[in-house]
Amino acid sequence: MSYFKAGQEHYLKKEYKEAMDCFIHGIAESDSIACLAWLGSCYEYGLGVPEDLVVAKDLYAGAYKVMFTSERRNELGTWIQEHLERLKDIPVYDTMCKFIEGVGNVKVIRRLETPYDPQLRYNLDELVVTIQSRSSLYRGFAFAQVNVPEMARTWTCDGERRFFDGYTLDTDLFSLKVLRGKTDRYTSSLDGRNCHVYFPQNANLDYIYIQQSILKKVRNLLVKRAQVALPPILKEVADRIGTTFQNCEVTSAVRDYLAYNYGQGKKIIFSVDAVQLPMDSVEALCIHELTHNFVTNHSSDFYNKMIELGGEAPYRRDQNIRYKGKWPYLKFI
Ligand SMILES: [Zn+2]
Repeated sequence: MSYFKAGQEHYLKKEYKEAMDCFIHGIAESDSIACLAWLGSCYEYGLGVPEDLVVAKDLYAGAYKVMFTSERRNELGTWIQEHLERLKDIPVYDTMCKFIEGVGNVKVIRRLETPYDPQLRYNLDELVVTIQSRSSLYRGFAFAQVNVPEMARTWTCDGERRFFDGYTLDTDLFSLKVLRGKTDRYTSSLDGRNCHVYFPQNANLDYIYIQQSILKKVRNLLVKRAQVALPPILKEVADRIGTTFQNCEVTSAVRDYLAYNYGQGKKIIFSVDAVQLPMDSVEALCIHELTHNFVTNHSSDFYNKMIELGGEAPYRRDQNIRYKGKWPYLKFI
């Protein structure tokens, strides 16, 4: 049975809460015109929810805009037009905010160039949903309400856990602690290998945007840590295997590589993920990049040169860096 049919049955039995839940799923999944219109009437007449004419109009308009011309002339189309006419003095907005149980603060923004499915991103204290310009703003709320709790349930920062007050991650190159702070802001500190991130005192860690905000802070801190920790390791390895490089940088941009050698030693760039690797893997990575001073591609010549410079063990470690499934611990996006 479709969400609309199920919702309609509840509605006709005056089980409005259950009806609304079905309509919301229909809107989230496929922007169902019938669900938009019937949910609109729940808001227009205050059925199962306090009356809200702004929301009612948003839903009716959203349904009307996605209808084909022929559909606009059918019974439902005519009905929607009548109701839009009745609400013609009610204002229309391009953005709306709402607190949704289990999701938290949600802001929906209508934007011209948005794909069919609503797009999610995370602000410090809210989830931002961007929707197509002709969609009802409600589609964004429905999408968040249906999809975010499952995303939040399965979200982990390191493949097994979520951040909590007292979260720690000890690796060869840094020691991370995530703690509840005493202010309303996110703060962080870096002292040698010790990275501390404090989240706001009132933050609710069940909300995925709080988790994502902490992850963003951790990432910024690890960029700084990497900038201090990685260049000396590269230098030490280069000296040991008898080659050189001119510059070494850690990029804060998201990269799908761990490191890259530009211009055969002119500049070696590390992504922040590299600082998460165990020490012997970092060294293997350095040998890999420095081998590019001699061979630019990944041919058999390259691997022979790499073994010549660093031996068998780093070669095998380098091959395994991505396949362990364990590193990098924190998955940055
Ligand atoms: Zn390479």
